[in-house]
Formats: sequence, structure tokens, C-alpha cells
Amino acid sequence: MEYDLIVIGAGIQGAGVAQAASAQGYRVLVLEQYAEPAQGTSSRSSKLIHGGLRYLETAQFSLVYECLQERKRLLKNAPHLVKLVPFYIPVYHNSHRKPWKIALGLALYSLLSFTPFQRIPKSQWSSLNGLKTQGLKAVFKYYDGQTDDKKLTQAVLSSAKSLGAEVIFSAHVESIEISPSSCTTTLLTKGKKHSIKSQFIVNAAGPWVESIIQKTTPVITAQPKVDLVQGTHIIVPKTNEFLGMYYLEAPQDQRAVFVMPWENQLLIGTTELAYNGDPADVAPLEIEIEYLLSVYNHYFSASLSHADVISSFAGLRVLPQADSSAFSRPRDTLLVGDNGDKSRMFSLYGGKLTAYRATAEKVMRRLRRVLPVKSGKRLDTRDLRLP
Ligand SMILES: Cc1cc2nc3c(=O)[nH]c(=O)nc-3n(C[C@H](O)[C@H](O)[C@H](O)COP(=O)(O)OP(=O)(O)OC[C@H]3O[C@@H](n4cnc5c(N)ncnc54)[C@H](O)[C@@H]3O)c2cc1C
Repeated sequence: MEYDLIVIGAGIQGAGVAQAASAQGYRVLVLEQYAEPAQGTSSRSSKLIHGGLRYLETAQFSLVYECLQERKRLLKNAPHLVKLVPFYIPVYHNSHRKPWKIALGLALYSLLSFTPFQRIPKSQWSSLNGLKTQGLKAVFKYYDGQTDDKKLTQAVLSSAKSLGAEVIFSAHVESIEISPSSCTTTLLTKGKKHSIKSQFIVNAAGPWVESIIQKTTPVITAQPKVDLVQGTHIIVPKTNEFLGMYYLEAPQDQRAVFVMPWENQLLIGTTELAYNGDPADVAPLEIEIEYLLSVYNHYFSASLSHADVISSFAGLRVLPQADSSAFSRPRDTLLVGDNGDKSRMFSLYGGKLTAYRATAEKVMRRLRRVLPVKSGKRLDTRDLRLP
């Protein structure tokens, strides 16, 4: 049997592409090396469905706007998986970002998202979960989305399956051969090799994106140079009933660190550290755990120690290679063909959990140029409710 499209990877991007392509009536097969979806980055994110307030600082306006539009759609199509929650931003005398700058960013964010923000009166500061008030100048409150990234990915993949997509788990893609008329993907499953034909391939292998390129013949040369940057989260006990999320500026390097209520505990993250190993081996490092604990302890009076860390996890971002810090690099998704106008394989680099549907639509726009449109009913993913 020949498929229109093979999608490599059952993370959020692969699930999104499978859903969008099945909704267009294409015959789709998803191949995933692990036994379940979302075993890579898509279960190790900060679990935010957000425009990314901080991306306004680096003028990534179109990314913020796109993500906020997607946030709105997810709140409508998956209200059981995505919730708006309050975020608090405390600003101190020695904070790098001044209150006027935060207020300006929030005003713009609020305009783009149609959700309000406010300044919390000083009389209410004492109710803010033991937030230190010495030197505190202002506290802002705004709203953004929180999800369970693994459940969201499972839901998008289930939606794809209900539209006809097939999925093979524990299927490791070993090699890909591209000819002018089709693609042959060889995979290893249950100790046996199988080859499957398709018209096109979407490489949604997340941090393994380059390893898939390396398995492809003819050799693909013109691909973007990327860095893998690891981000760690720790889970600690909730010291009291947290009102919402705290958006903190790390005193060490002015990066954004979130403290978030998560399954009756607190999730604190994240870090940014260059990673050069096998993506399967990424794991939290001691210095990252110390960094996150010290950010928390800088802001909250109930101090945490290493012994309080219940668990931790690390994920990998795929970012364009640059000399600048990972924090300031663009977070857009890059979609790159293997051979210009004659491409049969499209590789996805980077991107946001939040924008998976918009990314999948970009893939579909490229595919529609080369894959004949199917007859029959086609569905618009903007209106598809997630199971
Ligand atoms: C620390 C961190 C925090 C983040 N926080 C947020 C956030 O709060 N909000 C947000 O919107 N975004 C966030 N992101 C970004 C977001 O999580 C990622 O963009 C997204 O999860 C990437 O999904 P993916 O499908 O591309 O990759 P993955 O989820 O890694 O999926 C790739 C899949 O490909 C499979 N695969 C690889 N090689 C093979 C092979 N040879 N054969 C078969 N299968 C293969 C893997 O097993 C894996 O399941 C964060 C990212 C990081 C790292």
C-alpha cells in the first residue's frame, strides 16, 4: 500500500501534521520510535499555551500574534485540555525590566489577545504566596494558557486517527530513499525491517530532525544549521495554595523563569544550556537544578533546598545556530524541503507547542502545491474539537 504522506514523529508537530493532512483526505501514516506519543520534547515543555510575552522584547510580533490566535482556538476546541490561568509578574527596585516596560509589553499583549491585565494594589501583596515584598515596586497580573502537553499531543493524534490516519509505534525509521516519483522509508519494528512507500514525507522528528536528514539518500546538503538547547524543569511540593503562575526574572542572567502550580505540586522552569549528545539521553544537570532553586529562593520566603526536589525532566529546543544567547534566538518553525521545488521531504525545525496547528497548516500549503487535492469532504482544523 502506498501512502500520500509518511510523518516521522508522534510529538505535537507530527500529530498536528497528521491531523491536518487527514482532514484534507490524504492517506497518512505516522511512524514513532517509542511505544507512545509525546515521549520526546512534547511532554517536557513548560506546558504553556501562550503568545510568549517575552518574545515581544525581541520583536517577534508575528509569532506572538500567531500563538495568541492559536491559544484562542485551543480554548474553544479543547477547553478540557487548555485553561486560562492568572500569571503574576513581580518587579523589584533592582529588576532589569522596569514597571513601565512590563506595563507596555502587557498593554500590547492585552491588545493582541483581548485578555486584560492589571496592577495588583500594594494592600494585596501580602496574599501573594509568600512573595518577598522588600524592594517590591509593582506586581502585574495577566492571563495565559496552561495545558498538559502529553495529553494535548495524544488528543491531536487521536483526532488524526479518527480522520483516518494510521500510526505505528515502536517503529524506528532507519533509512529513507527519495526518487523523483516517490519515497521509500525503511523502518525497524519488532526486530524486523519493513519498507513503505509514500508520495511525500514530513520529518517531524523534533531534536532528531538532523539524524533523519542523515539517514536520507540522495544526500541532502542545503539544510539550516541548528543548535540543540536543553531546558530543565523541577517539581517541588507546593508551599501553600498558589494563586496562579509566577513569571520571574532570574537575578543571575535576567532570563524568564516560571513557577507554576502543576498536579498539586509546583513546576519550576526552565533553563537554557547547549546540548551536543544523543537527544534520547538528555537529562537535568545539577547546575540547572541549583539555578532553578536559587531563582525560587530569591523571590519566595519559604526557601527550598535540593532535598525538596521531587523530580525533574529536561527537553531539547531546536534553535537556529547563532552567537547570541539561546534566550534571544527566534522561536519560529522553519519548514525546509529536501530539493527546492522538487522536494519530496519537508523537515520541521523548532517551533512552539502552542502553534502546532498553524505549523501544520503551513506544511499543508506546501503539500497542496504538489499533492493532488482529494475529492470528498475536507475539514478545517480551525473548527475541529479535540477529543
Ligand atoms: C524546555 C522547553 C520548554 C518549552 N515550553 C513550551 C511552552 O511552554 N509552550 C510552547 O508552546 N512550547 C514550548 N516549548 C516548545 C515545544 O515543546 C516544542 O516545540 C515541541 O514540543 C516540539 O515538538 P516536536 O513534535 O517537534 O518534537 P518531539 O516532541 O520531540 O517529537 C519528535 C518525535 O519524533 C520521534 N522520532 C525521532 N526520530 C525518530 C525515528 N528515527 N523514527 C521514528 N520516530 C522518531 C521521537 O521519538 C519523538 O516522539 C518548549 C520546549 C522546551 C525544550
